[in-house]
Amino acid sequence: MECIFCNIVEKKVKADMVLEREKFIAFRDIHPKAPVHLLAVPRKHIDSVDHLQGEDAGLMGELLLFAKEVAREQNLEGYKLQINVGRKGGQVIDHIHLHILGGNAEEI
Ligand code: AMP
Ligand code: ZN
Repeated sequence: MECIFCNIVEKKVKADMVLEREKFIAFRDIHPKAPVHLLAVPRKHIDSVDHLQGEDAGLMGELLLFAKEVAREQNLEGYKLQINVGRKGGQVIDHIHLHILGGNAEEI
């Protein structure tokens, strides 16, 4: 199955990259819903939160630390973190990702 975020991880598809680390990448959302809208994505393909295994607990903790690093690098004073789960939860891309939404509180 083709996965757009795996293709971005593998540099087969371009993205507006903001930070790359061993286990994660962060890039700008193409349809921003906040003044700053970034996606933090593990390089490992996991479909969704519903597909997490116990062995992924550490990775998800590291994802939060990565999001914090991204926010600091982007000089975000405050931000929201969001994970959509399943179609009915608003998930469109089946590769787990964390939305980082920054700007003024009333705009995010
Ligand atoms: P979700 O609805 O949680 O699955 O979020 C998927 C997000 O990925 C949406 O906000 C899209 O705008 C964004 N998106 C989809 N394709 C791309 C892409 N090629 N580059 C950057 N962002 C994308
Ligand atoms: Zn993937």
